Amino acid sequence: MFIGNWKMNHLKADAENFAAQFLKLYKASTTGAADVGFAPVITTLPTLAASFGKVPGILVGSQNVHWLESGAHTGEISAAMVKEAGATFAIIGHSERRQFYGETDNTVSLRTKAAISAGLRAIVCVGETKEEFESGRTENVVRTQLIGSLKGIDAADLPLLTIAYEPVWAIGTGLTATPEIAGEVHSFTRKVLAEMFGQDNAGNIKILYGGSAKADNIAALMACQDVDGALVGGASLQAESFWKLVENGRTK
Ligand code: PEP
Repeated sequence: MFIGNWKMNHLKADAENFAAQFLKLYKASTTGAADVGFAPVITTLPTLAASFGKVPGILVGSQNVHWLESGAHTGEISAAMVKEAGATFAIIGHSERRQFYGETDNTVSLRTKAAISAGLRAIVCVGETKEEFESGRTENVVRTQLIGSLKGIDAADLPLLTIAYEPVWAIGTGLTATPEIAGEVHSFTRKVLAEMFGQDNAGNIKILYGGSAKADNIAALMACQDVDGALVGGASLQAESFWKLVENGRTK
């Protein structure tokens, strides 16, 4: 599974051009299957949903959802609203939201529950900062974030749960985690999920890597046992670079 997180980028015309280019590449390809997805800003979500919504294997989602259905929450958006705009998944707890917009494990858990209850796939992000990485606290941070962010999630919710491990020091910095680091943290993440939900359930949860993933480093990352795909920022903004990443990453 390869998900492009467009963050606060692309106007409608950019999204339309992207979709036209990407569809050409996607339809011409005969290599193995993978789910590909895009999380654009909310104004271009309907644009991408119109272009990709009926194409098997291409998903469109939102970058967030609020946990309530409606009310006095300026700047927020509900799961039903993003669904109506064409979303089938939502990214929850991205590190930029945790760092700059006051997102906590508790609010991530509320948003995750709301997304899944509405029938959206929740892609829940966890990951340590540079300081936490350098002081050897990665596992503690990832464990704490997983437990806090998935509070209230039970076995029935798991078919709609995906985890993204995104070391904050690798996001948008050009510093990709080495396959060794990513592989170790992904295996650790699966171990914590097994403690929470049991071995079999944990084995079925996709764990994506995020942090400066690109066409030329994705194959090595995907070769790690517990890396099931990628959440991609910068390299997802141009159709060709994202398509190359998907092609190079489709190794399993
Ligand atoms: C992200 O924002 O989720 C991300 C992984 O960004 P980038 O690929 O640009 O590091």
